[in-house]
Amino acid sequence: MSNTRDLGPDTAHGGDPAEPAVSTSRHIELASTHSAHNYDPLPVVIAEGSGAWVTDVEGRRHLDCLAGYSAMNFGHHNPELLEAAHRQLDRVTLTSRAFYNDRFAPFATALTELVGKEQMLPMNTGAEAVETGIKVARKWGYEVKGVPDGQARIVVAGGNFHGRTTTIISFSEDPEAFGGFGPYTPGFRVVPYADADAVAAAIDDTTVAVLIEPVQGEAGVIVPPPDYLPRVREICDRENVLLIADEVQSGLGRTGTVRACEHTGVVPDVYLFGKALGGGILPVSAVVADADVLGVIRPGQHGSTFGGNPLACAVGATVVRMLRDGPYLENVRQLAPVLDTRIKEFVGNGVVSARSIGLWAGIDVDPALATGRELCERLLGKGVLVKDTHGSTIRLSPPLIITEDDLNWALDRVGEVLADLRAGN
Ligand SMILES: *Cc1c(COP(=O)(O)O)cnc(C)c1O
Repeated sequence: MSNTRDLGPDTAHGGDPAEPAVSTSRHIELASTHSAHNYDPLPVVIAEGSGAWVTDVEGRRHLDCLAGYSAMNFGHHNPELLEAAHRQLDRVTLTSRAFYNDRFAPFATALTELVGKEQMLPMNTGAEAVETGIKVARKWGYEVKGVPDGQARIVVAGGNFHGRTTTIISFSEDPEAFGGFGPYTPGFRVVPYADADAVAAAIDDTTVAVLIEPVQGEAGVIVPPPDYLPRVREICDRENVLLIADEVQSGLGRTGTVRACEHTGVVPDVYLFGKALGGGILPVSAVVADADVLGVIRPGQHGSTFGGNPLACAVGATVVRMLRDGPYLENVRQLAPVLDTRIKEFVGNGVVSARSIGLWAGIDVDPALATGRELCERLLGKGVLVKDTHGSTIRLSPPLIITEDDLNWALDRVGEVLADLRAGN
């Protein structure tokens, strides 16, 4: 090649020769000029991935400890998922639900059997699953519970993250998420997370649902006390209110179980799944509940052009099979104590507090030492990809297939960065 000055290391491994890779700085300049700044990415341009590792355009390898906010639970370039997707790409990819497609029923059957519910409603993104859950709960409230029309209310938790639509940000407590986007959708009441008494106090005759994350992800991996969900379940039973568990991030293996709710034995009325359900290949989400709940939605009342498409169903069914039959949950269970022990060793050494469940950890960096962003930038320099959340917290959520050696390697790097910062380097 003659003019390689501005090109990446090579385009042979997967790059499209018609679109030669550009250097990190040039890519960032172009992205910054030609895309909205709704994200502030760390300065790394990923070109390829395999397992828990990614390679950037400069040829440097990084251990991916974010895993696409858990959308990449099964690792990059997962051969089983790729095979399922490739096979389906060669058959049919989109039919719309004006017709049946032959991948739909197998996916619906597998997912509902996996979580022990009767029916599912497929959508694409997590936010759409949440929106669907809200619509189902409201309609259930009017048709089944008998709430006067237009008055249905849903109780949600402070510090929640359920997505980015106008209705969902209406009950966010994060000024970045809701500020400037009003007018807001009414019908929600926010109570403190992990406070079952507050849930009970917020419920009245118009309440149709309690919507909560079994573990709050974006808030910094907040694990509520073990009696919280069981008590909320009791309250919902007593008050004839649906319990909706947003398992978009906590579900599908992240905590070592199919559903984070399993840790406390709680069975919600409605599950919301997303992220990992698409195997990191395409957006796939679903609302899963029994027929007495999902049955309130009849033809023409809700839908999605892409929801339940054959490619999504083929990948989603493979995700279900992998969770059911594969080694993923077991790997999480084996590595969870390693992660928990090691992050707790950081406490007092530049970290104020740390907690984890499964392969999911939140580490609060001492703000006097560094911001979460600074820590992430330093870790990037050492080949570990993580993301800060809410200022001084970093969240670790490596792919469920990570090895113990790789996990320890990443945690060694975290320890090094904290030591550097403490030494003033
Ligand atoms: C990510 C997330 C969502 C939204 O999912 P999108 O696919 O980004 O719309 C909803 N709920 C929870 C708990 C999430 O973590």
